[in-house]
Amino acid sequence: MNHLLDTHFHLDLWPRPNISTLIEQSGIYTIAVTNTPSVYFHTEKIAANSKYIRAALGLHPQLASERQRELPIFMQLLPTTRYIGEIGLDDRTCTDFEIQKKLFISIINACADARNKILSIHSRRADKEVIDVIGEQFPGKIILHWFSGSLVMLERGVDAGFYFSVNHAMANSSAGKKLIQAIPSDRLLTESDGPFVESSRQPCSPLSMPSLLQTLVSVRNDLENEVIASNQIFANFRRILS
Ligand SMILES: [Zn+2]
Repeated sequence: MNHLLDTHFHLDLWPRPNISTLIEQSGIYTIAVTNTPSVYFHTEKIAANSKYIRAALGLHPQLASERQRELPIFMQLLPTTRYIGEIGLDDRTCTDFEIQKKLFISIINACADARNKILSIHSRRADKEVIDVIGEQFPGKIILHWFSGSLVMLERGVDAGFYFSVNHAMANSSAGKKLIQAIPSDRLLTESDGPFVESSRQPCSPLSMPSLLQTLVSVRNDLENEVIASNQIFANFRRILS
């Protein structure tokens, strides 16, 4: 297996400090998402010294009300990175959903103006709303991370050119498997969403990508083995970068 990829990892929330060294040694391309602009600096510093880690600027929807005052910092930092995440919307029945939406719309508009950004997006129980905000003509690359919406919305995302990063939690649930099977092979990406997602009672990290590939091979008919799977997924990532 040559190139491994984790497009959604919470490096700053990982409980042990040496993970960036391990990622570096294993040569796993990792997008280290952040949940607020104020913690981005820390991750950015680690990424600056790394060949494989890229820091993403984020404002997590579950922190929207608490951290909306950080939006100006977000906007200030936006031109300094190509990678954006974790952003998005969480649960349309949430009392602060309108605040979330306001922030998300501002961020999407700013990314659209900037063009060429790569966005990792949370859409739990808000799949339609997220796709509505982004629209069908977004000038940048959209990765819907841990997509758990309907097949109809997945298809809308595919039509709009979006990518989908899948993880162990999806690959081990029957609803998640159905979604994984419905993603076109040229839109498929891998992520750990560590430390939030676990596999065999251990938090996932970029180091879990080989076992994720193994599972994907068993879930999808078109990926015959892990080498084919990793080549396909890395080709997709190259296309995103180009
Ligand atoms: Zn996450």
